[in-house]
Amino acid sequence: MSAVNATLDKNTKSSPIDSQSVKKEQPSATPAAPLLLDIKNVQKHYGKFQALKGVSLDLREGEIISVLGPSGCGKSTLLQLVAGLAKPDGGEIVLSGQRIASASSMVPPEKRGVNMVFQDYALWPHMSVFDNIAYGLKQKKMNRGAIRDKVGEAVDLLRLNGLEDRLPPQLSGGQQQRVAIARAIVTEPRLMLLDEPLSNLDMRLRIEMRTEMAVLFRRLGISVFHVTHDPEEAFAMADRLLIMREGEVDQFATPEQCFSRPASREAASLLGAINRLEGEFAYTPGGELALRTPAGLVPGIYCGAGEAPQAGERGELRFRPEELKTQSESVEGGTLHFRIVHGTFEGTRWRSLAETTSGDRAYLLHSAPVIPGEEVTLILPRHAALFYRV
Ligand code: ATP
Repeated sequence: MSAVNATLDKNTKSSPIDSQSVKKEQPSATPAAPLLLDIKNVQKHYGKFQALKGVSLDLREGEIISVLGPSGCGKSTLLQLVAGLAKPDGGEIVLSGQRIASASSMVPPEKRGVNMVFQDYALWPHMSVFDNIAYGLKQKKMNRGAIRDKVGEAVDLLRLNGLEDRLPPQLSGGQQQRVAIARAIVTEPRLMLLDEPLSNLDMRLRIEMRTEMAVLFRRLGISVFHVTHDPEEAFAMADRLLIMREGEVDQFATPEQCFSRPASREAASLLGAINRLEGEFAYTPGGELALRTPAGLVPGIYCGAGEAPQAGERGELRFRPEELKTQSESVEGGTLHFRIVHGTFEGTRWRSLAETTSGDRAYLLHSAPVIPGEEVTLILPRHAALFYRV
């Protein structure tokens, strides 16, 4: 084995959250902030199919909650129930102390004090940027001078100066998205709903816009309920993450808590722990929980439901490629052995597909080229070895 080729990039961050993510100057809400949105055991069927199986969550004034989950898990359905675009068949939704939805009652969308930004922006194509932003204010019958002032403020905030007379088709995707946000914030909603707001933008713009949005909402103290399938977008925006799976809440916690202790194998995978090795639980002589995997014995943390496993039970290790260290880094943890199958250059590092002696595959990261057939030994720190029952 070549030590050089097995060397991982020491600069590789141990988090998938990119450097553009917002450094929160301060959380936009504290647990003590007043309750704004209370979703209690909400259920929703489409025919016989149950899209939401009893979802509960609380959102505090000024808080940004991102709902994250794979396609079809019920994210948009949940958002639509809050917006008033669909009705729950069980449970209730309370906004600012007022019940806005249940199986037997429904406050119409326009009376809820919420505003929604859609994936496709939903701008009026025949109206100028100014008129699009002013739309909600005109509906409220605000006088012209006040409308001009409010739209002017929103135009400044969203950096749309000079574009006021253009029609939406004459704008770029990022500019259209900014108009949609300006239109939503100008009416000062109690709650802002964002449904995959950046999914139509290219990657560079997505990174820019998610940071801009997070900064803006925090500065204005706007409460936000945000749906995305993109973990990086959720990390860039959220005070708390709601991870959903098959119509249920998998985990509801801060991004840091979800990242370091994903509550399920699926949540771990969603948050970047893409590598998976099965094995048998064991306890080290020091009493630490470990998993005997085909790549080696790994001490780690049990993150699943219920009591810690017993020795001899079957289990699964999940880990992120970014968390692996080289032996030269003198980090304590489990020693894993792999043979390189294939390597690809990623600009600042190499990624390999590797396998254990029993053929289990994993993705690894390296700071130097790797050669197929080469054997590598790597260290997985204990805190990064996430265990679940199988
Ligand atoms: P995506 O990220 O793909 O938008 P999602 O997590 O937002 O997915 P939902 O759109 O909430 O998921 O849908 C949840 C489930 O309910 C899916 O299986 C979907 O097919 C189903 N569903 C959604 N709307 C309807 C509908 N109007 N009629 C029947 N089934 C529906």
